[in-house]
Amino acid sequence: MYNQDNIFAKIIRHEIPADVVYEDDLVLAFNDISKAAPIHILVIPKGEFTNFVDFVQKAKSDEVADFFKKVSKIAKKADIKKEGFRIISNIGDNAHQTVEHFHVHILAGRKLGPLLVSGDTNSNL
Ligand code: 5GP
Repeated sequence: MYNQDNIFAKIIRHEIPADVVYEDDLVLAFNDISKAAPIHILVIPKGEFTNFVDFVQKAKSDEVADFFKKVSKIAKKADIKKEGFRIISNIGDNAHQTVEHFHVHILAGRKLGPLLVSGDTNSNL
């Protein structure tokens, strides 16, 4: 269930400020308030989707494709394609999703290391 009071919904409605790096009718991108890397951009669709799975299930195929093309465009604009970057989308409790509006993190600007901190998992991978 989508909660219209989540922080990103408030940013979309301009009820709270954000350091916007890209905006159009469907997509908004802004700098994360608590950067995990020198470049840490959040990209969100403006529609009401709680997470990646919800977005892929409910959005039109064109909108899904458009969203991910824009993630790439925003990375290009940030000039991070050559040195490399990471995209992450957390879904649910185990992934530590803290804002229930679908978002993709773009992280760059330093060596990001392995995906998960070693010793921090019981991974069978
Ligand atoms: P999650 O943990 O859900 O994958 O990511 C949520 C992200 O939203 C976190 O990295 C957090 O720092 C960021 N965040 C939370 N509140 C705000 C806010 O008010 N403004 C901005 N710009 N980022 C926020």
